[in-house]
Amino acid sequence: MIQTAIVGGGVAGAYCAYRLAENGLHPVIFDPSHPREKPCGGLVSPLALKLFPFLKRLPIDHSERDRLYVISPSGKKECVRFRKSKMLGFSRLELDQYLVKMAIDRGTKLIKERVTSIERKNHLWNVKTQKQTYLAKTLIGADGVNSIVREKIIGPLDAKNKGLCFGYLVRGLEREEITLRLSPYRNGYIWVIPRSKNTSLGIGCSEIKFSYGLKKELDVFIQDNFPQVEIISKWAALVPNVKSSKIFRAPLAGINWILIGDAAGHVSPISGEGILYALLDGELAAQAVAEKKPQIFDRLWKESYGWSFFLDIILGNWVYKKSIREFYCKGLKLESLIQLIMF
Ligand SMILES: Cc1cc2nc3c(=O)[nH]c(=O)nc-3n(C[C@H](O)[C@H](O)[C@H](O)COP(=O)(O)OP(=O)(O)OC[C@H]3O[C@@H](n4cnc5c(N)ncnc54)[C@H](O)[C@@H]3O)c2cc1C
Repeated sequence: MIQTAIVGGGVAGAYCAYRLAENGLHPVIFDPSHPREKPCGGLVSPLALKLFPFLKRLPIDHSERDRLYVISPSGKKECVRFRKSKMLGFSRLELDQYLVKMAIDRGTKLIKERVTSIERKNHLWNVKTQKQTYLAKTLIGADGVNSIVREKIIGPLDAKNKGLCFGYLVRGLEREEITLRLSPYRNGYIWVIPRSKNTSLGIGCSEIKFSYGLKKELDVFIQDNFPQVEIISKWAALVPNVKSSKIFRAPLAGINWILIGDAAGHVSPISGEGILYALLDGELAAQAVAEKKPQIFDRLWKESYGWSFFLDIILGNWVYKKSIREFYCKGLKLESLIQLIMF
């Protein structure tokens, strides 16, 4: 029997497995996807680097920037400079693969099978894959925005609480600065995030209902600014974008289960930052399992960063109003907003 089964080996699942394995508990990750490039900017904020300094030391290529350019809906460009820390841009192909390797090196087992369903069996779990059924004592759902673990236990994130992104992985912009262009047409923004070998160029909106013309807006931006860019691949992806803290009234953990990362809905509704929360959740879930009380995860995440996350939800509903977006794109006000979100 598996003691701890983790469905999903993205940042949340892999880091949780690593932390469990460090404690001598040897979990099993189910994930058939590696190696793969998850659609993502791969931007790691100064706050994430402060809380998880090991990221700066990973032996994988990344970009480093100490400034961020923000273009307002009307086209005004402002620069925000980070004086104390830099931001890093990772390819998710390399970052996630390395985190999985760290977990395996410490004793985690990776089963490269997709979980097709889970069922409670007395106090245990039947974890079914395309190939066979495994019995697990504790289940951790780290299987992303469309988590089947979440769906089965507390119900899926509904469409209102999911944003939609569209974009390209491109080559030729690796020397560019990190740029965010707030959309004049919808609650969302275009991003240019250079990494060492390629650049993530995409657009996101806070709700699927705002997505009409999403691709066209990005293509016009590329045509106007980077007509020569070489497109390597294109993608569309959903991302949690929670509009009301009410959804967290349902606990994210019980006596033998925990939901973490995107499966928990833990992505900043303002910035779209999720790598930080995936790491925090991985750490806290490992602590709860090590203490043999998975249910305390729901208290741990709220104590650790719940207040700032709930503030992000309130601000997220407000920041994307067009007049306020424009107002906040003026000098210091923009800087203070970004410092508030990213530090
Ligand atoms: C377009 C886009 C851009 C983003 N940019 C940024 C950014 O620049 N910075 C930032 O901090 N955050 C960003 N985010 C958010 C960030 O990508 C996520 O919050 C983060 O990846 C969450 O990690 P996770 O491990 O919870 O989920 P994921 O990274 O989605 O990993 C889930 C894993 O579960 C696996 N899985 C799913 N279903 C199953 C199953 N049934 N069986 C087995 N395995 C399964 C998948 O293969 C995957 O490997 C972005 C998101 C998007 C969509």
